[in-house]
Amino acid sequence: MPTISDRAWDDILALLRRRWPDLVRPWFRTLQPEQMDRGVLLVRPREMAHFDYLRRHCQEAFREAAQEVLGRLVTVEFAEPDTPAVPETPLSFGGDSAQFTLNGDYTFENFITGPCNRLAHAAAVAVAENPGRVYNPLFIHGDVGLGKTHLLQAVCHELRCRHAAGRVLYITCETFTNHYVEAIERGAVHQFRDCYRSVDALVIDDVQFLASRERSREEFFHTFNSLFQSQIQIILSADESPRGIPSLEDRLVSRFNWGLVARIESPCLETRMAILRRKAKTRCAEVPEDVVHYVAAYTNSSIRELEGALTKVLAVSQQYGGRIDLDIAKEAIGDHLPATTREPSITDIMDVVMERYNVRMSDLQGKKRNRSLVFARQVCMYLARELTSLSLEEIGGHFGGRDHSTVLHGVRAIQEQLANDEELPLIMKDLMQRLRQS
Ligand code: ADP
Ligand code: MG
Repeated sequence: MPTISDRAWDDILALLRRRWPDLVRPWFRTLQPEQMDRGVLLVRPREMAHFDYLRRHCQEAFREAAQEVLGRLVTVEFAEPDTPAVPETPLSFGGDSAQFTLNGDYTFENFITGPCNRLAHAAAVAVAENPGRVYNPLFIHGDVGLGKTHLLQAVCHELRCRHAAGRVLYITCETFTNHYVEAIERGAVHQFRDCYRSVDALVIDDVQFLASRERSREEFFHTFNSLFQSQIQIILSADESPRGIPSLEDRLVSRFNWGLVARIESPCLETRMAILRRKAKTRCAEVPEDVVHYVAAYTNSSIRELEGALTKVLAVSQQYGGRIDLDIAKEAIGDHLPATTREPSITDIMDVVMERYNVRMSDLQGKKRNRSLVFARQVCMYLARELTSLSLEEIGGHFGGRDHSTVLHGVRAIQEQLANDEELPLIMKDLMQRLRQS
């Protein structure tokens, strides 16, 4: 395999030491370039922990140093260490093997915060800094694709960074139950318990699956108590709040509520845009702002879907020599709008309301407060709340930057009138019908 000279490699390391002294670790000495192929310099560390560290923190610095020393455009990539084949015996996992399940990109640095996830994020950071002390357990819930796994794993990365010797176990609920069933079959329940009860932090993703597994639930209950009594940090995630998970007994629900329960909501437009910018940057793609806006507006639920949309745009842009602009974005995702997201836009809503109540756009968005205008505005807000998945903040933004409590007030005012008025329900029904057809 062609690679670079030892001399060049030493220079790269030396440059790294000079320019990024905080980043460089003593074990960098053990690193060797493995090959240099088509502008990619491949470096394979010997240890998983080193690989993790390099991928999380060092990509940019290595690239810059390599480009400077070699005098040409190269990228540096880190490859997973070659591991001796370890037999897959789930009961013998240690701190190390558990590391394989973590995604190196799911770090705090890569997690964008906004109103939708601020509490969950702050709690996760606090727990990572002070495990077992502040919030125990920490229970994070929210719909699929909103970043629960990302946050849980970020805590794991952080804990492993801070307490290299500790055993931080990240596991999905399914793996937990599978291990347990296997342990029973093999008559190795003791071993199972030793394993789970000797961790320094236990992180279980998607605990809603416990609902359907009675025996595992029982075992989990005892594991929980044992860890909790020793002030070992427990972090859990689910797609529902503890109370909302069907057939989860009260004793578990109340255990989950002992600590902090934090919900992640769907991200608002601004947060989605920030996430897209970050994802684009991670992929070294320059995405203009109007495209960021277009893609972020395309989906308003799952962030995974948002990433999928970005992937499509980048793929199509390849056909145009890497150019990324609005037309390309439209070509990439415009035709693929899933039927369920075809919801009326704010402009559609304003249009029907303007026509019905004979008001102008500038009235709806302006500051005037005469009753008929306020009412028309509130109808818009109500319709937007009912028919779109825009957040209260976003809706307010379309009406002259009103804040979310104003929108909420408007929506409630209409709800009240709908309950007490004869005519309004009919008008509303007609407006909604027209919007659904448009
Ligand atoms: P969940 O476990 O809630 O279903 P994930 O944690 O798997 O969701 O997140 C889905 C994708 O969205 C991942 O690629 C993740 O990195 C990304 N993601 C979610 N929330 C954020 C955020 N706040 N900032 C950056 N990326 C995010
Ligand atoms: Mg998940």
